[in-house]
Amino acid sequence: MPIKFKSSMFHQKILDPNNNFQPALIPLEVRRDTLTGHAAVIQEFRFRSKMPKPDYSFLIEKTRPICPFCSPGVDENSPRFPPEFIKEGKLEKYGVLVIPNFNPYATYSAISILSRNHFTEITQFSENIIVNGLLASQEYLRRVRSFDPKARYLSVNWNYLPPAGGSVIHPHFQPVAAYIRNTYMKETLSASKRYMLRNGVTYWSDLVKTEKEKGERFIGETGGVSWLVNYAGRGREPDILGIFEKKGSILELTAADFKDYFNGLSRIFRYMTDNNYMSFNLCIYSAPAGQDHYRTHARLRLRFQFPILGTADACFIEALHDDFLCQTFPEAACGEIKKYFI
Ligand SMILES: [Zn+2]
Repeated sequence: MPIKFKSSMFHQKILDPNNNFQPALIPLEVRRDTLTGHAAVIQEFRFRSKMPKPDYSFLIEKTRPICPFCSPGVDENSPRFPPEFIKEGKLEKYGVLVIPNFNPYATYSAISILSRNHFTEITQFSENIIVNGLLASQEYLRRVRSFDPKARYLSVNWNYLPPAGGSVIHPHFQPVAAYIRNTYMKETLSASKRYMLRNGVTYWSDLVKTEKEKGERFIGETGGVSWLVNYAGRGREPDILGIFEKKGSILELTAADFKDYFNGLSRIFRYMTDNNYMSFNLCIYSAPAGQDHYRTHARLRLRFQFPILGTADACFIEALHDDFLCQTFPEAACGEIKKYFI
């Protein structure tokens, strides 16, 4: 089987205070990402209980009067695109306003403001809001590619709420077009190309086929999107992949593809709400032109703060060791999420 699931088990020996200090072994597993080989330490959190529902009502009201994306401030104070790039200075498509990002991640870095409402709970995101936001972001990326073909590396990103690094409550996507690859793209593009050369098929179709057969991490399908939980999680909670198996560039996606994506995303949002998760990072990665072995895929990573201190869901392992720590087994999470796809 070409997709390799590499794993090593380790144990720490202790004298257990809960069992009269008798010897006990605490297990942990180190998995390797099936594409890049990146390490994830998987360790069932020993003191876990259901998260309390976070309350952002104070932050929502406090930020409303100073929000840069609420009217009329968004018209008066937002930066505009130079006329040689976008003549109108801003892009208004599908009822979504796209403006330059004051804090760019790349030469072309924008904000797509999804709604006039300052705050939207995840279960209130309608198909129209998400699909129109994606179509407007895609239109921005298409304009970039026509204007400056050197900007080859495209993505649409979303930080939702402060635990995910969101500094503005008002919901917005962040489309980015870069000259150079970020580390994720560099690693996954190289590995995906090697896989294709070695096996004669794309990694992405083999991954979907293999996970579907195994059934342990395969969540389901919504039209052209296959959903699965990543074997080696990239966060305390497993990360969730949505793969457009037949699409290379994000520019190839149609409104129907985005509707298929929303169909799955809305189910994940219901799972999150039922488990009191509200915050997440999301990225839709795109194959650069000429890279036929790569597929458009989206990755969603849940984010949260541990009660009662509001502790971050990342520590020295992610910050300084460059590994991931996952505290729920992907197979267990898949079993829970799958119920929402029936
Ligand atoms: Zn606002």
